[in-house]
Amino acid sequence: MSKKVLVLGEIRQGELRQVSFEAIAAAKQIADGGEVVGLLLGSEAATLADTMIQYGADRVLIPEHPYLQSYTSDGYTQAITQVVETEKPEGIILGHTSIGKEISARIAAKLKAGLISDAVGLEVNGDEFVFTRPIYSGKAFEKKVIKEGPIFATIRPNNIAALEKGESRTGEVSLINVEIKDLRTIVQDVIRKTAGGVDLSEAKIIVSGGRGVKSQEGFTILQELADVLGGAVGASRGACDAGYSDYSLQIGQTGKVVTPDLYIACGISGAIQHVAGMSNSKIIVAINKDPEAPIFKVADYGIVGDLFTVVPLLTEEFKRITI
Ligand code: FAD
Repeated sequence: MSKKVLVLGEIRQGELRQVSFEAIAAAKQIADGGEVVGLLLGSEAATLADTMIQYGADRVLIPEHPYLQSYTSDGYTQAITQVVETEKPEGIILGHTSIGKEISARIAAKLKAGLISDAVGLEVNGDEFVFTRPIYSGKAFEKKVIKEGPIFATIRPNNIAALEKGESRTGEVSLINVEIKDLRTIVQDVIRKTAGGVDLSEAKIIVSGGRGVKSQEGFTILQELADVLGGAVGASRGACDAGYSDYSLQIGQTGKVVTPDLYIACGISGAIQHVAGMSNSKIIVAINKDPEAPIFKVADYGIVGDLFTVVPLLTEEFKRITI
């Protein structure tokens, strides 16, 4: 039975995040010929509405309020809850990002709805919606089946393929009024720690370094390899604790959970807490001078060697191939 499904488009630095397009694709699957309604908030919403349509949204709603110019958990929760109450969608899909994680729980509580968080797969079998999600830090997967009632889920970046962009797709874009009250936070300014580069949680290729990288400068060769591959640099907690890398790049149980197509672990031993954040990568390559390092147990390809020799060789070789 066809459904109406609402999708939050998340904007970062003037662009829609890739996971928003993946959320539209998941919503299309659930809608089954019904309607996918995009929802955009923030000062740049109007300029990105057409992009949501090009990726498959049938129409886009832009709630307007001065308090929605910048993200606040309070403001976004109130606006989205009001849209849900007016539009009455049968499904709501958000990306499993910092924002998605924060507001999905609040919206679910306000709507007294169930929430499937961090879905990595979706199957539609007739009237049954089967979501796959990791449990026990990614060591196992469970399937959640929804047979009736609203479908509310967050989807992990890089797991559900986005639709092809269709420049000719058209749809209605509407500005709507919402009421925002008792806002407890007002954003005065946003200061970014780093500018540009590939976003770690959405990167298709990650070159990650551990304590074996030995210094902050050691990370330069990892950045060079990542640049040649169009990827991002990540780190183990060992590297962050030692001050070689910023904690914002930490991957693992207490860091970011990533699922790139290719994960290259350099000088990382493969502690269970690190593996929890990267074991669902499609291909894992480990470079470690210790042949007994546990990282080799999860790796598809292993190189036993000194990373300071191996990484520059890989960079040179990839440069040669990509020219
Ligand atoms: P090490 O374990 O010291 O490994 C360094 C590796 O580098 C070794 O295998 C060594 O053989 C290799 N090496 C050294 N020199 C070279 C060289 N020249 N060339 C090639 N290889 C070399 N860790 C995380 O990563 N993420 C988390 O989110 C996280 N959360 C945690 C949460 C809790 C509650 C706890 C208790 C721990 C957590 N940890 C986490 C820490 C985790 O247990 C490990 O201590 C950490 O992952 C180790 O980092 P590492 O592999 O870089 O360092």
